[in-house]
Parts: sequence; C-alpha cells; structure tokens
Amino acid sequence: MSEDFTAYVIERDETTKEQSASWKSVSTDDLPEGDVTIRVRHTTMNYKDALAITNKSPVVRRFPMVPGIDIAGEVVASDSPDYAVGDEVIMNGWGVGEVHWGGYAQYARMKADWLLKKPAGLSGADCMAIGTAGYTAALCVLRLQQAGVEPGDGTILVTGASGGVGSFAISLLSSLGYTVAASTGRVEEEPYLKSLGATEIVDRKTLSEKGRPLDKELYAGAVDSVGSTTLANVIARMKYDGVIAACGLAQGFDLPTTVMPFILRGVTLAGVDSVMAPKARREAAWSLLEEHMDRAALGEITQEADIKDVAEIAPKLIAGQIRGRLVFTVD
Ligand code: NDP
Repeated sequence: MSEDFTAYVIERDETTKEQSASWKSVSTDDLPEGDVTIRVRHTTMNYKDALAITNKSPVVRRFPMVPGIDIAGEVVASDSPDYAVGDEVIMNGWGVGEVHWGGYAQYARMKADWLLKKPAGLSGADCMAIGTAGYTAALCVLRLQQAGVEPGDGTILVTGASGGVGSFAISLLSSLGYTVAASTGRVEEEPYLKSLGATEIVDRKTLSEKGRPLDKELYAGAVDSVGSTTLANVIARMKYDGVIAACGLAQGFDLPTTVMPFILRGVTLAGVDSVMAPKARREAAWSLLEEHMDRAALGEITQEADIKDVAEIAPKLIAGQIRGRLVFTVD
C-alpha cells in the first residue's frame, strides 16, 4: 500500500541544531521498518512526549521524528504470523517516539514483537487513557505483589499521587484491597485522590526535605514516581520487610540514602522499567488493568483532547497544569 497521510513531525536543523515541529503530509512509504502497519485510532500524551515536543530534554534521538509513545489501532498490513489485518493492537514504549516513528499520525509501522493484542475488556481509547502511565503503575503493583506485599501487611504509600502513574497506582491498589496513602503537593486534589481510593493524604513537603536515615515505620509498601530525597524518606519510613517499587524521578534522579533501612529492616528497593519490559510482563500488567482498573476512576482520570492542539498542550503538561490523562482520537 502507498498512501499519503498527516503526521506531527519533529525536525532539526543540522546547522543551528534548532528543533521545530508541525503537521505535515507524509507517505506510508516514509514509515520506518517493521512487519506490521497500523491505522492509529487513539494515542495520548505522556511526560516524555511533552519533553520531545517542547525539546526540554533530548528525548528525540533520530530526525525527522513522529512523537507518540503509546498507540492503539488496527492492523492494516502484516508480514507477521502473529497479526492479521483487522486485529486491534496496542503498543507502549520500545523507544517509539524517540528513535522510531510513533502515534501522532494516521499510520505507524512497528515490529510485531512490540505489539500486544488489545485486551478484550478495554476499548482502544481506554488503553490510551491508561497508556504508559497506567501500564507502569500496573508493573509497580505487580512488583509489590511478587515481593509478597499483601493487603493485610499495612498501608501502601504512593508518591506523585496526582500524576499519571500515581493516579493509576492508587486506583489499582485500592481495587485490590490495599489501604493507600497518597503523597501530593496539591492538597486541593484531596477529593480527587480519595475518589480514586486513597484513604490518607500526605503533604509531599514532609518527604521532600532531607530526613533521618531511619524514621517511624509507617508503610508496608510504596510506589514511588518521584525519586531523590522523597524516595530516601520513603525508604526510611518503611516497615520491616517493606518493599518499594521505584519508577520515576519527578523530583530528581539522585538518591541520597543510607544502607540502614536495608540492613536493619530488610527493606527492598525494586526498580521498574516500562520501556524495555519483556512481553510476558507487559501482558501480566495489561491483564491486571483489564481486570482491576475501576472504570469509574478511569473516567475520572481521563480527558478527551484534540490532537491538533499538541503544541499548546505539551508545555502545560510539563508545567504540571494537566491533571490525569489525555486521550487523542486520530481521525
Ligand atoms: P506526571 O507529571 O503526571 O506526575 C508526576 C507527579 O510527581 C506530579 O503530578 C507531582 O504530583 C509529583 N511531582 C512533580 N514534581 C515534583 C517534585 N519536584 N517533587 C515532588 N513531587 C513532584 O508524570 P507521570 O506520572 O507520567 O510520571 C512520573 C514519573 O515516572 C516521571 O519521572 C516519569 O519520567 C517516570 N516514568 C517512568 C517510567 C518507567 O518506565 N520507569 C514510565 C512512566 C513514567 P503531586 O502534584 O501529586 O505531588
């Protein structure tokens, strides 16, 4: 097939190194290599997409680039025995939107290994509302479960609570029967966080300054998307044998901690990566979401937005002015 279509293209002037982005007409012949071509139906904006569009951080490593690290759509051509024309598929991560054209376009071409069949119990729009943020939250919850943290063990602390990962982590944990404390800098979001299932709100200021190596034993587990001093304080507040799933760096990538919580309380710090996670782990995360994501909470977290407005939306997302998750329909 050869067809012209519209895509949001980030380009770089190789002389000035200036980056620019605009909607352009491109051809399916321009699509990168891959064995499955997809008609994109829905996508979303993650923090990483916003960084790519605003060029606030060198996310894009190949030009020209189409951003959009999450995709839901249907297969229109396939050289893979695993996918047939008409199959509904989803894709998260794998360097898409960084080194391989992503979802801000009518068509995308992917390696079959990167795709998952869309979970039957979720629509394509639901999957994009969940997106990398929700899928990462699910990976964090699985990490806690695999480490043996059970609802009866005590409260689970979620940091960066009103962000994408935090919101989904609260909802999933609460649906699974855990008691959840939500750490946030936006105390005005208390009703929102409680509607997702948090029972306690923690002012993030109590975690963001340098604290003691060992503090009160408060939490049986934690999902941390903040890093830095916050994560150090979370580690210091874990109960004996507590487990932290660490996935983010909203405060910073440093970790000014000591070995004390690890050697005196048996605390486990479990890292979580969504980009290169193997297929079986992705399938487990999406099954968890399909089964346990509260659909009313999903509606509460999600806003529809117009993909034509991505240039205006990206700086707002970076500035923390967008709550929850955005879904774009690709007409
Ligand atoms: P969001 O921007 O939606 O949420 C981040 C939240 O962190 C904010 O809403 C805010 O929550 C809190 N926060 C922001 N700045 C600070 C600060 N200076 N100090 C303390 N808290 C702060 O991002 P996402 O939820 O999408 O992602 C969260 C993190 O996880 C990011 O660092 C992202 O890069 C990372 N990530 C990692 C993945 C992986 O594969 N490991 C995948 C996806 C995301 P509040 O206002 O409630 O305090």
